[in-house]
Amino acid sequence: MIIEYHRPETMEQAKKLLSRSKPLTIPLGGGTLVSHPSQDPVAVVDLQALGLDKINNDESIIKIGAMVRLQSLVESSILPEGLSHSARRETNINIRRAATIGGLMMTAGGNSPLLGCFLSLDARLYWEPGDKFIYLSEWIGKNREQKPGKLITSIEFTLPERILYEDIARSAEDRPIVYVVASIWKTQETRVVVGGAGKYPVVASDSSNNLFTKIFDRHAISSILDRYGYDAYQQAAIQTLIDRITPHKSMFGRKGDE
Ligand SMILES: Cc1cc2nc3c(=O)[nH]c(=O)nc-3n(C[C@H](O)[C@H](O)[C@H](O)COP(=O)(O)OP(=O)(O)OC[C@H]3O[C@@H](n4cnc5c(N)ncnc54)[C@H](O)[C@@H]3O)c2cc1C
Repeated sequence: MIIEYHRPETMEQAKKLLSRSKPLTIPLGGGTLVSHPSQDPVAVVDLQALGLDKINNDESIIKIGAMVRLQSLVESSILPEGLSHSARRETNINIRRAATIGGLMMTAGGNSPLLGCFLSLDARLYWEPGDKFIYLSEWIGKNREQKPGKLITSIEFTLPERILYEDIARSAEDRPIVYVVASIWKTQETRVVVGGAGKYPVVASDSSNNLFTKIFDRHAISSILDRYGYDAYQQAAIQTLIDRITPHKSMFGRKGDE
């Protein structure tokens, strides 16, 4: 139950409100989840007047404000196609027009194509107070409930050369049953993430961690997916998707492996 609504015009005012312990005071993004009926009294701080709704590209560093709507990712001309595509696969257009990147970071699970795409991009989240950043993988790898601050202000990543995205869904309008997303940078650094089950998407391969060969090793992938609760059908479907995104294995930096 929302008992107070605030719409601060400066970050200082927002931080002051969010630092209160009573009543429980939380950020309000698009409100698609916060507006659900609940018995718990809560005060909300609407972030929409703080200018957090921009997407910037500064020398291949992309910065997306926490109040950017999911639909803006679909429509943006400066974002890689794979990212826009995963945003479109996230949910229907009505929710995409309201829900924000900040809200998604706080709530999305293992079946979220967009969360998987940001994990594959090795994205960093900026938090207030303190303007400190944390890698998304590090934060959700520990415990997402333990927040590094009161509010997310932006999400940032280095633009890859390309993002490959594939999924399987019951229909073109349904949320995917499984998906695979790979970000590949000019340096050949590559991160492959799979999703469809569990609390978070799974980083299946990260060239900077020497786990790289695992995406070509069916047995290794299956044992990772087993641990995350993927059933036999999902595991088989993921193998098919990995085959689809790796028609030429040398694309992932392993010479003579085609
Ligand atoms: C009909 C319906 C269908 C839905 N379908 C889907 C779906 O298919 N897939 C899916 O993933 N979700 C779905 N959702 C859930 C919801 O839309 C998403 O989780 C959405 O991403 C939440 O974003 P929001 O901006 O609306 O968050 P809000 O509802 O505003 O907030 C959600 C949580 O995030 C916190 N928060 C928001 N912004 C910030 C910030 N900047 N910093 C720190 N904390 C913040 C809030 O305090 C709150 O705890 C659906 C919801 C509805 C009502």
